[in-house]
Amino acid sequence: MDFQDLPLIPPLLDAAKACGYTSPTPIQRQTIPPVLAGRDVLGCAQTGTGKTAAFAMPILQRLHTQRKQRAGGRPIRALVLTPTRELALQIHESFETYGKRLPLRACVIFGGVGQQPQVEQLRRGVDILVATPGRLNDLIGQGHLSLDQLEIFVLDEADRMLDMGFIHDVKRVIAQLPKKRQTLLFSATMPAEVESLALGILSSPVTVKVDPVGSTVDRIHQWLYLIDKQNKKLLLAQLLIQPEVESALVFTRTKHGADRVARDLAKAGIQARAIHGDKSQGARQRALGDFKSGAVRVLVATDIAARGLDIAGLSHVFNYDLPNEPESYVHRIGRTGRAGLDGTAVSFCCIDEMKELRQIEKLTGREIPRLESPWPMQNQSPSPLKPVSKAAPAKAAPVRPSRACAAREAPKLAQPVPLSPARPARRVPLATGNDRR
Ligand code: AMP
Repeated sequence: MDFQDLPLIPPLLDAAKACGYTSPTPIQRQTIPPVLAGRDVLGCAQTGTGKTAAFAMPILQRLHTQRKQRAGGRPIRALVLTPTRELALQIHESFETYGKRLPLRACVIFGGVGQQPQVEQLRRGVDILVATPGRLNDLIGQGHLSLDQLEIFVLDEADRMLDMGFIHDVKRVIAQLPKKRQTLLFSATMPAEVESLALGILSSPVTVKVDPVGSTVDRIHQWLYLIDKQNKKLLLAQLLIQPEVESALVFTRTKHGADRVARDLAKAGIQARAIHGDKSQGARQRALGDFKSGAVRVLVATDIAARGLDIAGLSHVFNYDLPNEPESYVHRIGRTGRAGLDGTAVSFCCIDEMKELRQIEKLTGREIPRLESPWPMQNQSPSPLKPVSKAAPAKAAPVRPSRACAAREAPKLAQPVPLSPARPARRVPLATGNDRR
């Protein structure tokens, strides 16, 4: 799904584009339509999943499209309650970014700083207030703001509110809100206390749940090889013949890439099927059927083709190319290790993909453990940007193995080669046993 397919108004779609969002994250896909329709939402999701845009964009749209003429200035129409100053600032910034081209005003208030500038902002009038609960109650108590015309209430990070002892403050705020309103509650976990709070404040909510980024990543053994582009096919063939690989989904960035990898594997004596948007429905079904029946162990796919595939519990996912969007890495590797099974995700990264690697590691908050193959990366200079040309690119010859492997000839593709690291020996990455990180 494209971001532009969401039922959002152009100023918001433009803002998403300006932020570089090409496709909505799962929480955005599931949350934006019901919020636009005025439904209450119970969202099980944590920071890092794209949750802020999932509520901020439809709130901006509703406030903008349902503007009412009101006597007596600008009442607060939406309130986001969040536990920490950092989150409050981030959420406020998101409202400002997404709502840049809308005539709505957002304001943020939190404790630990002087209240006067916040009071002055409130006096000038705000449509959207982002607040931490303690300071909000203080200002309500002093008569600086009223919530009696509120239309939308967001309770963010409800479980952390409990952990941080804010639940009484939260309940005091809720007691001030009009009964007729739209409510969205987000929480990374659903302990009993959050559930009972949710029951009390939500009315027939739509429940949306996405895997927290961290937990998906936690149960999967991940490994990374730094390798030159032209050697990726050699390494892939070598890894795929290891007996631990019962079923493997290999991701490539492009459709041509998927075909090429399947062809290279065939030359190496490994049966594989490619699946992508240029294949007919029949060809896709046959490829999938062969894979599911076990007739072939390896399926090569692009992200888009893989999205609609009902395949789970794979033993291995290979990122032949790293994805452009770091979220896709999490989705890809989530194909393995499903239903409590251990899984392994092996990624290849060439010099031109270092930026993508940094983004993935930033999103998942961890460094993917590196392994060294007989073809360690030798090319340290990124390729110059190529002009778009229809001519077929010249074929690059595989780089010879590094000095650490120089005593040996480059192995024939289908021959199992013991990995011979230049550094102290590490295990072949395919076992899913004790080396879990
Ligand atoms: P959040 O979970 O709201 O804190 O968002 C985490 C990060 O994801 C932020 O840096 C957002 O800018 C980014 N983000 C949100 N939605 C998307 C999207 N659809 N595509 C790519 N990045 C996104």
